[in-house]
Amino acid sequence: MSTRKIYQSTRSALLTASPAQAVMEGIAPDGGLYTLPSFADAGFDYQAALSLDTLDMGAMIMTALLPDFTLEEMTALVRAAYRNKFETADLTPTVTVGEDALLELFRGPTSAFKDVALSLLPHLMRASVKKCGCDDEILILTATSGDTGKAALEGFCNVPGTRIIVFYPENGVSAVQKAQMVTQTGKNVCVCAIRGNFDDAQTGVKNIFHQVQEQNLLAGQSIRLSSANSINIGRLAPQVVYYFTAYKEMVAAGRIRMGETLDYAVPTGNFGDILAGYIAKQLGLPVGTLVCASNANNVLTDFLQTGCYDRRRPFHLTISPSMDILVSSNLERLLYLLTGDADIVKGLMQDLQEKGHYQVSDALVKKLHSDFWAGFCDDDGTRDTIGQIWREHHYLCDTHTAVAWNVAQQYKAARPAHRPVVVLSTASPYKFPEAVLRSLGISQEGNGFAAIAQLEKITGVPVPQNLRGLDQRPVLHRDVIDQAEMLKYVLKKAEEKQWNK
Ligand SMILES: *Cc1c(COP(=O)(O)O)cnc(C)c1O
Repeated sequence: MSTRKIYQSTRSALLTASPAQAVMEGIAPDGGLYTLPSFADAGFDYQAALSLDTLDMGAMIMTALLPDFTLEEMTALVRAAYRNKFETADLTPTVTVGEDALLELFRGPTSAFKDVALSLLPHLMRASVKKCGCDDEILILTATSGDTGKAALEGFCNVPGTRIIVFYPENGVSAVQKAQMVTQTGKNVCVCAIRGNFDDAQTGVKNIFHQVQEQNLLAGQSIRLSSANSINIGRLAPQVVYYFTAYKEMVAAGRIRMGETLDYAVPTGNFGDILAGYIAKQLGLPVGTLVCASNANNVLTDFLQTGCYDRRRPFHLTISPSMDILVSSNLERLLYLLTGDADIVKGLMQDLQEKGHYQVSDALVKKLHSDFWAGFCDDDGTRDTIGQIWREHHYLCDTHTAVAWNVAQQYKAARPAHRPVVVLSTASPYKFPEAVLRSLGISQEGNGFAAIAQLEKITGVPVPQNLRGLDQRPVLHRDVIDQAEMLKYVLKKAEEKQWNK
């Protein structure tokens, strides 16, 4: 028998929510993130989960995390979400590259790992709203460092009862990422650039939630805000599943025996993906070390090594833009899960906001070190790694994956007793064709979109269908605003009856 599972804010044990309510609201009213007190579940049989096919395994795991859905309900949602959406039958294949395994998470409709969760979230959101007995329209607000935006637009496009506004940093995404977003069709979608970086966009969105809630700014409009970022537990839960599928494939390939531990290396920005790995571990999957890989924005590397989180540092625009983040939202959930103390978390988050830094206790640093290892790789290292993997293994990887691969090698050198490592591969190389071409030592002919064709010609690796002909699609979204205007923008958009024809 599993115990009753109630979500609560990371900043207050008194602010509780049912799982469906947590998904519907996206973020707790006090600005905290919804979490279970612990995701450990004595009733969850991980080996039984591993014996199922991907979709049934997904439904079983999702039901354990969001237990006001029955297994039947969840199975229906999962099947509807992934039908004919991915290039490969097993949504997230694990491939062998050298002595490591690579978990390919980018075979979905927008060629980034966010598709795994954002294919399911709209279905889960509608079902959650219904379960909560709410008939408000849901207005999704999303800040993106490049990949979430497009995956969320694609996921929510024309889903009845929902609208979505995506904010992206004007100069903080790749040309391909930007083209993917500004050409998005659909009656219920809106895309807007922010003059600032991702942290500005994300903070802006969090502030809107707070102000709308505090001042009841959408009163009488039958509209409810929610989030498609990994602050929403409904975004995080589907990501737990592929830690299991990779494990299953590693057993099937004879790389480990059932019950042995695996290490995972995760290219990290907002700490969502790697936290999903930690949740998999709490559910009983034999996960050894979670290797947190950062780019030059290495605030997490410092934190996981020293226990001091300090965002007072330069913000670097890198060739792995989806990890250009200095305020990693989901770390807050980990802090709660490790301390079990909402007051401590609230204090740390207040320090971060007011002073720009915080320090956790030595006891907590010790706990962090038992589950995590951290390293970083700058742009030069990223390019070298892409070139090296191509030359040695004839595998073409993207810039984010290269960061994780590079840090995985650092980890193995530092910890000779490591377990087999699964490196999470989070995007198609064709989302960052200019950077990848240069990494292969090839000079680019023409613009960013010509680089896609050039890269395909040279490597023979096929371009994903969704990225073909991007530059010929009409631009449908041109708004650019300051962070200070975001609230006004959202309120105006909320009032408009019709966005696009
Ligand atoms: C979002 C993203 C990441 C970072 O994931 P988080 O959950 O934010 O840590 C890494 N790589 C790619 C390609 C991404 O889109």
